[in-house]
This record gives sequence, structure tokens and C-alpha cells, in this order.
Amino acid sequence: MPKYVYSFGGGTAEGNGTMKDALGGKGSGLAEMSRAGVPVPPGFTVVTDVCNLFFDNNQTVPEEVNEQSWKALAEVEKLTGKKLGDAADPLLLSVRSGAKFSMPGMMNTILNLGLNDETTEGLAKKTSNPRFAYDCYRRFIQMFGEVAMGIDMALFDEAFDARKHKAKIKLDTELTAEDLKAIIGEYKKIVQKAAKRDFPQDPREQMVLARNAVFNSWWAPKASYYRKMEKISDRLGTACNIQAMVFGNMGDNCCTGVGFTRDPGSGDKVFYGEFLVNAQGEDVVAGIRTPQPISELRDWNAGVYDQLREITAMLEKHYKDMQDFEFTVQEGKLYMLQTRNGKRTGPAAVKVAVDMVDEKLIDEKTAVMRVAPSQLDQLLHPVFDAASLKSLTKLATGIDASPGAAVGRLAFTSDAAVEMAEGGPVILIRKETTPDDIHGMDAARGIVTAVGGKSSHAAVVARGMGRPCVVGCGAISINERAKTADVKAGGKTITVKQGDWVSMNGTNGEVYLGQAVTKAPDPNSPVFAKFMKMAKVFRGDFGVRANADIPRDAKAAVAFGAEGIGLCRTEHMFFAEDRLPHMQAMILSETEKDRRKCLAKLLPMQRKDFQGLFEAMDGLPVVIRTIDPPLHEFVPKREELMVDLAKLPNADIKAKREMVERYKNFGVEVKTLKTVLQDLLKRVEDLHEMNPMLGLRGCRLGILYPEITEMQARAIFEAVVAAAKKGKHVIPEVMIPLIGGVQELENQKAIVKKIADEVLQKAGMKKQKYLIGTMIEIPRAALLADQVAREAEFFSFGTNDLTQTTMGLSRDDYTKFSKQYEEKKIFKADPFGVLDQEGVGLLVKWAVEKGRQTRPDLEVGICGEHGGEPSSVEFCYRVGMNYVSCSPYRVPIALLAAAQAAITKNEASGEANRTA
Ligand code: PEP
Ligand code: MG
Repeated sequence: MPKYVYSFGGGTAEGNGTMKDALGGKGSGLAEMSRAGVPVPPGFTVVTDVCNLFFDNNQTVPEEVNEQSWKALAEVEKLTGKKLGDAADPLLLSVRSGAKFSMPGMMNTILNLGLNDETTEGLAKKTSNPRFAYDCYRRFIQMFGEVAMGIDMALFDEAFDARKHKAKIKLDTELTAEDLKAIIGEYKKIVQKAAKRDFPQDPREQMVLARNAVFNSWWAPKASYYRKMEKISDRLGTACNIQAMVFGNMGDNCCTGVGFTRDPGSGDKVFYGEFLVNAQGEDVVAGIRTPQPISELRDWNAGVYDQLREITAMLEKHYKDMQDFEFTVQEGKLYMLQTRNGKRTGPAAVKVAVDMVDEKLIDEKTAVMRVAPSQLDQLLHPVFDAASLKSLTKLATGIDASPGAAVGRLAFTSDAAVEMAEGGPVILIRKETTPDDIHGMDAARGIVTAVGGKSSHAAVVARGMGRPCVVGCGAISINERAKTADVKAGGKTITVKQGDWVSMNGTNGEVYLGQAVTKAPDPNSPVFAKFMKMAKVFRGDFGVRANADIPRDAKAAVAFGAEGIGLCRTEHMFFAEDRLPHMQAMILSETEKDRRKCLAKLLPMQRKDFQGLFEAMDGLPVVIRTIDPPLHEFVPKREELMVDLAKLPNADIKAKREMVERYKNFGVEVKTLKTVLQDLLKRVEDLHEMNPMLGLRGCRLGILYPEITEMQARAIFEAVVAAAKKGKHVIPEVMIPLIGGVQELENQKAIVKKIADEVLQKAGMKKQKYLIGTMIEIPRAALLADQVAREAEFFSFGTNDLTQTTMGLSRDDYTKFSKQYEEKKIFKADPFGVLDQEGVGLLVKWAVEKGRQTRPDLEVGICGEHGGEPSSVEFCYRVGMNYVSCSPYRVPIALLAAAQAAITKNEASGEANRTA
């Protein structure tokens, strides 16, 4: 019979910490803690497979699951000396979800299970605390009613508030035992009316229904959304943990808390967390009351504090990772409820990894694998320019929950945040967030809450998402309905409203009214540098280059660790104000002679640009691509010209002057407007294409107008000469775009080679090395890569175009239906962001193999957007490319992804123990 249920408690467990797939994160943690002798309330875990069986079998489980559960329950009863349903001294249970990957607050929990009319009286007597017992029962009915019986929570809230009103009290804690008893009566009526049955009195029935409710919550919309966001498979299912309750709310010698063995925001090695006296666990996470910092636990109960530090330090050593733990103290006795590897910010991930290597807790390989490449993004986040903050009003200083600076317009609800985010950056402001806010938090650039601490929902989720977050801004009082907030700042009250601009800093907790200026981050922090150095060792020869067109970007890329330029899009240089007129004149020229005249003016400018690039990249390869986009991108739009021409006969002098300004690059005056615009329109119409992306662009331009390629080749090699004369080591690689076969490359290569050899010979630099290669961005070129490699000395995959052309999907128009396609799971992800390994990847793999058959030393890279996306980088490594190239700010992400790809590949091929 399959084993569906695993017991734990009493210093032992049937499962262990390696069984996350079956027991979920929480269940495996409980088993492992129990084995390590940590005080854990006994219980059992129903495995994740049962969740899938439950859905596959019409929401029922095999009878063996129940049989094994009753057996495990008997164990719990033995260990606690209490019995479920015992009227005198009842065992109470918590029933919690727990998937393989943590999904904080996304699924259901039921506490105080086992209470009914009878056992509640027993609990009241046993604890001599009827108020406590009735409060537990009413919480249980409410929680169970909502979660397991689908009753609207608002109905319970209304009854609760009505009683408070009747009793003329403000605080829940002022309700007496009698009040609570009356509320229980009301609640039972609500259940009867809404569910058409009595509130279940049989604790075993309660247990089965609660377990099923936990499974059902796997498909709650917020849980599905979270899985999609975090790329967690729907098929994993959740385990269900059923465990003896311990109470942090039995009086002032009880408390409950959560913490981390290190600061999850900065990674600093400090004991970090918070606790609430006389409260249940959910109160801390929900952020309803603002808890005390954990350092104050020592004053409250030094013995408990020391024991907690000892246990958590032991757990960190045991798991060799920062732990996120939950604990409860019941009448002075400490219980650990959960431990797991803690979620952390990017900076903390890097710091913890580096520190743990220094502490000899983990090796360098483990450290490199510990940081998700995308987390590095947070180290590369902008910070505020201090001077720009001076003119802004500081609204509040809250708790720094997740680092980074963000500027945006205030949204008071998550729906508003999603809507407003379409028009620009948004900051979500809430009293506190709940799991229902997940979409708003995702859409917002930053999150601010009025209450809650560092472990509140907002803090935990924002950190996981890498969103800047400030919580517990006590000075802010929110009126959600009016979509305003009153803020006490500097002795007066300021009212802010939806749409107002604010600037918030999750690194120090400050919130300002107005828009601050943000500054690029510093990639040179010593911890970061140390981490990246570790990663480099594992990467071997695999390189990371940057896509950069100007020396400033090239320098930024080198600072981030780029080892060359993988793509310089030369046409970007033609758009500059001093060049556009020459470019336009060249395009509008009727004859080759006229075109050459214009190109001669562009030549020195391009040469200067290239020289700057070569000098900035001294000793590193620089790939320069010849002109790529269709020429009409450089001239006025056909429709605009037509409109202006139509308006011209009735235009007054002011309108005419505006037109002269608009067309000034074409040497127009007021009196020549008509003829110039007519000529211009004629030429623009000549250039007009139905499908410009598939039209006269890329190498086709250079084939029709060889003088353009000639000019560019001359500019490149004259720049090589000039930079070399200044003592720079120049490694030029000239790249021809958009070829569909070897013939196009042959044509362009001949032009480039002729000019290159001529220029170098003249300069006495015949020995200067250079490569001429091509982009592979048309499927035909990929398919015929063996032929292409006869001429190409390198390949660089232009996966933006290759995705577009392989999938027949416009890279400019896909966003019009991307949402539907990705929601319906027709595409797993945006194929322009994440390489379609299955389809486009097949062509890439084929082309690498075929290319190398012809030319074994063929240099192969990628310069499409995918070159900075971790899973695509891993693919590029796997198919044997030499490098990836991406935008400068993504270079560290690509560097780490490459190191991880290398480690994973080596482990798979049995080289795991190779010392790097
Ligand atoms: C590509 O197509 O992937 C590429 C890098 O070229 P561009 O984006 O300039 O078309
Ligand atoms: Mg392209």
C-alpha cells in the first residue's frame, strides 16, 4: 500500500528534510526538526500526491489515506496525552497547507480544530479560562466556516461587529466570555442558514473537511496567480500538515513570533524577527498588530530567548542556509512550528552566500548556486539622488522591509494599481496587504503600508518579488473608500490622494511626496565583486559580452564585467542630430554619386564613434554590425507628409513656419514648402513597403547600395588604425545582418574585406587581425549554416528576428495579444523574452552543429534580447556557444546564469567534484 501519511514528533519522524517533493517544505522541515530533537508539537503530513489524487478523483481521496491518518492521529494522541473530541481535555489541531515551494499566505490554514459545543466547555474548565475557550471556538467556526464550508466571511464579521456595538465596546479584547458565547450562537445560525447544515460537531469529520479545504485552496485564484508568477508547476500539489495546537494566546506568559537567522533584507548576520505577546501566529503574519522586535524577547523571558537562539543557530548549521522560523511559547514553554530556508532580497542572497563561504559553512560552488540570477537585478536597482530629496516633503519613515528606491503615483487598491500601471509607475499604498493584493503588488513599482512589521505579508511578499517596500508607517492613516490618506508630518496633516506622486525608499523606510531623481546603482561593492569573482571561476571560457553602441555604455558594461561588445548597432549613430540630415540626404539621393557625397560626410563621424568604442574596449572584442533597419525609418512618415501637404493650401504663416521647422533637414523654406514636400513624398512612397520588417533591410541594403557598406567598413578600419596608433589592442569583428544564405554574405564580405585590407595595408598594419561574420536571424540561414560557415568566421544569433521569422510573429505587434496567449498557456512565456528552446532553439542548435562541421573553430554567440535571460543563457551554454551578449545592466545576471549553467552541466556529466 502506498504511504500517504508521515508522522513526526517526540524526537523522531518517519520523513526527513530531503522529502520536500512528498512532504512539502513545511512538512519536511517539521520532520527534520523533530529528528534533530527540536521541540515540535507532534503531528503528521498527508503527502502532496494525495492533493493530485484528490483532484483526479472528483475531490475524494483513497480510503487508505483516511486509515493512515487515523493511525497517525492515535500517535499524536499518545504523545500529547490528549484525545481528539475528549470532552474533558480535548486535543486541538492545526491543519495547514505546505507545498514544495513556499507560497506565503496563498493557501488555507485552519486552527483550533476539534472544538465543538462540548469540548469548548472542557477547554474552558481545563484552562480555567472560559474567555479563551470561547474565543478559540468562535475563531474556529469563523475560519472553518469560510475555508471549509465556503461561507462569506463578511457575515461573521457583521455579527461580530454587531455584538461589539451592542456591548458598547471598541476593542475585541474587551468582549467578555458571555459576549463571545453569544457570538458563537450567532455564528452557528449563520452556518445553518448559509450551508444548510449544522456546524459539524464531530472532530473527525472536521478534520476530513479541513484537509479537503487545504487541497482545494491549491486552486484558489491567488495561489494560481502566485504559481504563475513564480513559475511553480500546477502539478506539484500541496501537502497537508495536521499537528497538535500550541497556544500563544493563553495569557501574558505566552507569545508567538517569527524570525530569521540573518537579516533577510541586507544579509547581515544578526538575529532578526519579531513577536507578539498573547497572540496567535496568524496575527504576526497578517500585520494586524505591530509586533515587538525579537531583541525584546530577552527581557520578556531570557530562558526562552537563549533556547530559541540556540535552536535556530543549530538549524542554520544543520541546513547550511539562513532559516526563516516560526515559534510559539505556551505558558513559558517554547515550541518550534516551522523552519525553512528564508526568502531574501538580492543583496542579502549575495551577502549570505559570500559570508557562509567565509564561515566555511558552504563551498563556493554552493554559494554560486544559491543566488538566482534574476535576484542580482536588485543590486542593480537605482537609488535616490540625495540632493533631489531636499526639495521634497518627507511624509513618513516606516520600516525598511525590502530595499530599493521607487517613484510612482499612489494607488489605494490593487485593482487601481493594475489599471494605473498601464499609464506609468505606481506605488501601492494599503493599510496592510493580504494575499488578495498579489496582483496589485506585482503591478506596482513599490509598496507602502500603514501597519505591520518586517514579517508582515507585504514585507515577505515584496522581498520575494524584489519590490521596494516600506511597512508600518504609523503616521499614515488611510481612508480606502475616499482613496486618500492623512499623514501627520512636521506638526501638520497632509492629505494625499490617488494619483499623487511619491518617492519611497525600501532601504531606509522613507516616503516622500513628489518625484525624486534616481541614480544608477554601484556595481563595485566589495561583497558583490567577491561573489562575481567566485562565479567567474566556474564559467570557464564561456564569455559574456554587452550590446552597446556608444563608449559610455561600453564602459558601464565593462564595469559590470562584460568581456567585449557583442553587438554595436551602427544605425543608432545615424539618428543623432548632427548626422540625421546627411543620412536623410543620402536616402533621398537619386544617384550613387550623390549618395557617396552624403556618405563622405558621415564617414568621419562614424570613424570617431568606432574609435571611441575600440578605445573603451581595449583588448576586448568588438562586434560592429553594418546597417540593418529599413531606410524609411530615417525619413518622415508617409501619412504625416500627406496630411501636411493637404493642409498646406489653407495653412497660415504660423502653421507654415511650423512645417519649415519640421522639415528643416530637407533645406525647405516657406516658399519652397510645396515642391519640397511633394518631392519628399514621392521618394518616401518609393521607399514605402507593406512589410518593412521583411523588406529592404539588413544585408539587402548593403547589396543594393554597396557604397553604404564601403563607407562603414572604411570607418571601422580607419578607427582600428587610429585606436591602434594610440597603443590600444583592437579586436574588430564585422557582422553582416539578416542574411538568408551564403551568397549574401559572400557579396558583403568581399566589400568589407577589400576596404579592410586596403586601409590596413596603407597604415602598415597588414598583421592586424579581424573577423568577418554574420548574424543568424533568418531560418534559411540557420538551416544552411554549413554553407554559411564557409564564408562566416563567426555566427551571432539574432534571436529577436529569428523568433519573429521562425514563429511568423511580429516582434512589434505580439504584445497586442500576448496576455491572452500566455494566460491560455499557448505560450509558456513571452517568446521575445524567454527563448523558445523547443522551436527556435532547435534551429539554433542545428545551426551551431552545422556551422562547426564546416568550420570547427567557428566563434558562436547570441545578441538577441535572450542573451540576458537566465534560462536562455543556460540553453546557449548547453548548445556550445562561446558567449552571450546582452544589455549592460543584465551583464551580471548573464555572468551568474552562465556560471550556474556550467556547474549544472558539469554535475550532470559527472564532473561534480572537479575543483575549479
Ligand atoms: C536580433 O534580431 O536579435 C538582433 C539582435 O537584431 P535587432 O534587434 O537589431 O534586429
Ligand atoms: Mg535583427
